Amino acid sequence: MKKIGILGSTGSIGTQTLEIVRTNPDLEVTALAAGSNVELMEKQIREFHPQTAVMWSDQAAGDLKVRVSDLPVRVLAGMEGLLEIAQLPEMEVLVTAIVGMIGIRPTIAAMRAGKTIALANKETLVTAGHLIMPLAKEKKVPILPVDSEHSAIFQSLQGGPAGRLSKILLTASGGPFRGKKREELENITVEDALCHPNWSMGKKITVDSATMVNKGLEVIEARWLFDVDFDQIQVIVHPQSIIHSMVEFVDGGIMAQLGTPDMKLPIQYALFYPDRRPLQGKRVDFYELGRLTFKEPDRETFRGLELAFRAGRTGGTMPAVYNAANERAVALFLDHKIRFLEIAEIIEASMERHSGKQNPDVEIILEAEAETYDFIRTHYE
Ligand code: NAD
Ligand code: MG
Repeated sequence: MKKIGILGSTGSIGTQTLEIVRTNPDLEVTALAAGSNVELMEKQIREFHPQTAVMWSDQAAGDLKVRVSDLPVRVLAGMEGLLEIAQLPEMEVLVTAIVGMIGIRPTIAAMRAGKTIALANKETLVTAGHLIMPLAKEKKVPILPVDSEHSAIFQSLQGGPAGRLSKILLTASGGPFRGKKREELENITVEDALCHPNWSMGKKITVDSATMVNKGLEVIEARWLFDVDFDQIQVIVHPQSIIHSMVEFVDGGIMAQLGTPDMKLPIQYALFYPDRRPLQGKRVDFYELGRLTFKEPDRETFRGLELAFRAGRTGGTMPAVYNAANERAVALFLDHKIRFLEIAEIIEASMERHSGKQNPDVEIILEAEAETYDFIRTHYE
């Protein structure tokens, strides 16, 4: 029996993780956490019987407590609750499928308690990779990537000799606006941006895919997970999303991982690594596909990608500012308060005014986040 906890169980990654639990009887759910969807959390508790459940607000936790009062489950709230379930003695693996920088503290708490991390919450690694990776080494806890590109890189590295990686070829679908020019993106609506061609995901990451900020975050995520320089990461637009990413070794040999776009594969791989379990689903049919295509990303139109390289190279608190500005700007866009192209503008303006600090601890990272929010509140809300 492998006992797992899921932060963000009601979201896209969270619910797909639970689908995997359904088909693998040797997985057991110890803890679940979510933001506000009490109704779905109640259903999940009745089906998966976790010993502890967390809702973000006191009100949602109170509501949940009443709904599941016939069950032996403990209900907790807020950051305190997240930190507590991150360290539950019975739990072995924590799936971090929460969205945003809120994941930093629970992830660190889980690692300190020796838990294996199945990491979907890329914002944590982007903003605190310099703390997370050394801690993983110190505590000897595996960080298994759930993000499909990083899982592909990780799978491609299996069997390759350590230290012989030369380059990461990070593929990108290009999102719903691939091929469009800046002028054509002036009047993009929220509905347009939420329509992703290949993947069905939470709202924030879907907008991030449309701006290509998601690829920017993934570049920084890859830098930390695989200990490479930014010069060793090349982004390649590959609209079919069949090659999930590749690695090039020092002799020029390239290994890639391919498959139909389905997040259940990387989630399941992280849960059972190094094993591979059967998984139902559509298989790649090369006859039907005919061809796979590749292009250079349009850095002019999708400024968010370029800004990520800049933030990553600057390092320190700059990736936290990049990420926080994006989180806030995406929320404002989803609220119809700003235009699509303003997302990248807000990120750039936030980065320009920030005088970065090197090697920040969690407090300083969260201060940079708060400062960025203040700046955006004053200038754009
Ligand atoms: P989502 O919006 O569908 O789900 C987010 C989950 O986090 C929900 O369960 C929500 O209730 C919970 N949550 C949000 N704020 C919370 C809080 N304050 N306290 C407790 N729970 C909270 O998002 P998603 O698409 O599943 O993405 C989750 C993470 O995985 C993100 O970091 C995203 O970048 C990453 N990711 C997602 C995909 C995908 O296919 N969806 C792929 C790769 C990486
Ligand atoms: Mg991805």
